[in-house]
Amino acid sequence: MIPAPSSRDQAHLLRLPNWLGDLILSIPAVRLYQSWLRDRAPLLVAGPASLAPLAPVLLPGLEYLSVPRWPLAFHSEIKKRNVASAVAFPNSLRVALEIFPAPYRAGFERNWRNPLLTETQPRRTSPYGFIHIADQYLGLLEDLGLPKGKKELPAPPPSLPKPAEAPTKRYLAVFPGAAYGPAKRWDPASFAAVIRDLVREHSLEPILMGGAGDGESCQAVAEAYGSDIRDLSGKTSTLDLAHWIAHASFVLCHDSGPMHLAAFLRRPGVAIFGSTEPAWTGPLGDTITVARHKVSCSPCFLKVCPLDRRCMTRLTPEEVLSACRHRLAPA
Ligand code: SF4
Repeated sequence: MIPAPSSRDQAHLLRLPNWLGDLILSIPAVRLYQSWLRDRAPLLVAGPASLAPLAPVLLPGLEYLSVPRWPLAFHSEIKKRNVASAVAFPNSLRVALEIFPAPYRAGFERNWRNPLLTETQPRRTSPYGFIHIADQYLGLLEDLGLPKGKKELPAPPPSLPKPAEAPTKRYLAVFPGAAYGPAKRWDPASFAAVIRDLVREHSLEPILMGGAGDGESCQAVAEAYGSDIRDLSGKTSTLDLAHWIAHASFVLCHDSGPMHLAAFLRRPGVAIFGSTEPAWTGPLGDTITVARHKVSCSPCFLKVCPLDRRCMTRLTPEEVLSACRHRLAPA
């Protein structure tokens, strides 16, 4: 059981997931923990330095600690902050090492790291299907003694600045990359076909976006598209990305961090799923439509397809376009 706070001098720590999407899916659990603590003790959150600039957008009012590359280098921070209780959402050995100086350390059960934690809980499973990751995080806290929570995102920040380079006309933010691996990436020609129709039908300016590793995917879509198209891949920070998404009229993406960011910011969009499972990592809220062609081998959760990528190739531009049209239709 997470120890009830006994003094305001003792902090509680939540070690957040390392991936942007998972971090966003942990937000309902973070808010649950915060409301359970109320003002009885300070709540700190910790995560990768790469996501620190987004923390004020995603978790306003909470102090975010960037974890150093070397896990033991985090020990001085745990001691300095007088952390009495640390709960880790990632199930890695590395994270169990990071929080080791905290007297109470809890997380998901995983054989070889269990001795490093003072309490472990199994991941929740269901004979009827997948349990969403957001419910896994809430379930962990519930199993550690907190009340039941709901997988609902808090209200988005009231306004984020529009990037100075953003067009004055309405724009379509397209994310053709997926850091997870090629099994998650839809065909560039299919992306191009959907973009073309959306531009024609809705007068949107298309903008290709993504991180530094998404340059190739964006370039492939730009080539398939043929006409001039702006490519901002690798040119925006994670915070810039939030600003671009916040002002996009529509977002077209895969099951990825930008999909969850768009859901967090309540932007309308369509997310293409292939080797992964929407019931497990689907977007929260109701602004993103999932486009998927269910095949018998899906979900396989593989990064590289050992077959013929049928979960992606059988999803046609017409199907995705129809999902986009449905989303873009006036209410
Ligand atoms: S094995 Fe099946 S689900 Fe997995 S990537 Fe290949 S086609 Fe898609």
